[in-house]
Amino acid sequence: MSAEKNPRQILILGGGYVGMYAALRLQRRLRRELKRGEAVITVVDPQSYMTYQPFLPEAAAGNLEPRHVVAPLRKVLKHCRVRNGHVTRIEDGRRRVVFRPAGAGPDDLHELPYDLLVVALGSISRTLPIPGLTGCGIGFKTVEEAIYLRNHVLHQLDVAASNDDPDVRRRALTFVFVGAGFAGIEALAELEDMARDACRWYPNVKSGDMRWMMVEASDRILPEVGPEMGRWTADALRARGIEVKLQTMLKSAENRHIVLSDGEEFDAGTLVWTAGVKAHPVVKDSDLPVDDKGRVEVGADLVAEGRPHVYAAGDNARVPDLSGTGEYTAPNAQHAVRQARRLADNIVADLRGRERRPYKHAYVGSVASLGLHKGVANVYGIKLRGFPAWFMHRTYHLSRMPTLNRKMRVTADWTLALFFRREIVSLAELERPREEFELAGRS
Ligand SMILES: Cc1cc2nc3c(=O)[nH]c(=O)nc-3n(C[C@H](O)[C@H](O)[C@H](O)COP(=O)(O)OP(=O)(O)OC[C@H]3O[C@@H](n4cnc5c(N)ncnc54)[C@H](O)[C@@H]3O)c2cc1C
Repeated sequence: MSAEKNPRQILILGGGYVGMYAALRLQRRLRRELKRGEAVITVVDPQSYMTYQPFLPEAAAGNLEPRHVVAPLRKVLKHCRVRNGHVTRIEDGRRRVVFRPAGAGPDDLHELPYDLLVVALGSISRTLPIPGLTGCGIGFKTVEEAIYLRNHVLHQLDVAASNDDPDVRRRALTFVFVGAGFAGIEALAELEDMARDACRWYPNVKSGDMRWMMVEASDRILPEVGPEMGRWTADALRARGIEVKLQTMLKSAENRHIVLSDGEEFDAGTLVWTAGVKAHPVVKDSDLPVDDKGRVEVGADLVAEGRPHVYAAGDNARVPDLSGTGEYTAPNAQHAVRQARRLADNIVADLRGRERRPYKHAYVGSVASLGLHKGVANVYGIKLRGFPAWFMHRTYHLSRMPTLNRKMRVTADWTLALFFRREIVSLAELERPREEFELAGRS
C-alpha cells in the first residue's frame, strides 16, 4: 500500500466475535500502515466490550463473575479507534453509515465515511407475535440479560420463601424456557442447577417445589450435538426433574399466564425466550445485497456480491459452506471466529494487491455445559457425557476466551468455586438503583 494523504478508512460495524477478531488481526497485520497513517481502523459498537457468549450461562449461574466473560475493546484493540454507539443505517451507495453516538439523543445522528466496510452486527432474538411475550419474556444473548436472570431467579426464591399464599409461591417457582438450542438448554440447565443449590439456604423452599420447563416446537433438543446426544440430554434433564416438552409451542404469556399448544395453562414468574436468532435488522434495511433472511450475501471470500469494498461474516452473513456440510455456514462462534480471520486476511490481500482466499471450515461439533460437573459433547464424532464433557467444555472455552487477562480471571473464578459455595445473594434492586434516593427526596 503506498503512502497516501488520506488514510484508508476501514470501518467495522460491531465489536463481537467477527468485529473484534477481525480488528485484532488487522491491527497486527497492518501495523506498518497504521503507524504511517496510511490506514485507520474504526470499530463501532454500543458496548465497550466483546461478549464471550458461550460463558453467559455460567455467568448467569454465578460460576463466573459477569465482568470476566467480556473483553474490553479498548484494551484489546490498542491500535484501532473504538466508537461506542448504534449504527442506525448503512448507505453503501454514499459509502456512509449513520451512527448515533453513546449519550446522544434519538435525532442526534452522525455519519461515518468509509473506504472498506466490515458488516459484523451479529443477530438479535427472533421473536414471534405471541400475546404477552415481549411484555414478560426475556432473551439470553447479552451479559446484562445473564446478570438480570441470575438476580431474578434468586429473587423468585426470596418471594416464595416470604409468602404463604400457595398461588404466589407456585408462580414464583415456575421457570419456563422456550427454544432448545445452545443458549436455551445451557441457560436452563445452569440456572436450575444454581437454584437447586440455593434451595439449601431456604428452609421452606424444597427443590421439588420448583418447576423448570423447556418448551420446544420441534421433536429434538440441542441439534448442535446430533440426535443421539440430544436424546441423551433430554433424558438427563428429565432425570433431574426438568420437564422437556417437545413438539409444543407457547401460545400466550399475557400477565405471565402461560398457555401451551398441548392445552396446559399455568402462571410462571419467569419466561426466557431462546427460540432462535435473526440477522441484525440494520442489515436488512440497508442497500447491501441481502437474502430473504436479511443476511448480507457474500461469496466464499466473505466479500458482498458486487461490492468489492464490503466484507461480512458471522450471524449477519450468508456464507457458502465449502466443506459440504450444508449449503451455508451455521450461525455459531466456531465459524464466526474463523471467518473473522479469513475476512481480515482478505482485506490485507486486497490492500496489497494479492489474491483473496475462500473460507472453508468443516464444523467439528459442539460442547455444552448442563450445570456444575455436567455436560454433553460431540466433537470430531467423539461423544462424551457427564463430567468428561463438562471438563472438555471448560477447557475448550477457556482456551478460546480472548486475552490472557480474562483467561486468568476465569480460571481464578473456577478455582475459588472449588473452595467456596456459590454466592446466592439476589441483587434484584440493581434494576432500580435510584428508587431509595428518590424516596428520600420525596419524604
Ligand atoms: C448464550 C449463548 C451461548 C452460545 N454458545 C455457543 C457455543 O457454545 N458455541 C458456539 O459456537 N456458538 C455459541 N453461541 C453463538 C455465538 O455466540 C454467535 O454465533 C457469535 O457470537 C456470532 O458472532 P457475530 O460476530 O456474528 O455476532 P456477535 O458476537 O453477537 O457480535 C455482534 C456485535 O454487534 C454489536 N451491535 C449490535 N447492534 C449494533 C448496532 N446497532 N451498531 C453497532 N454495533 C451493534 C453487538 O453489541 C455485538 O458486539 C452462543 C450464543 C449465545 C447467545
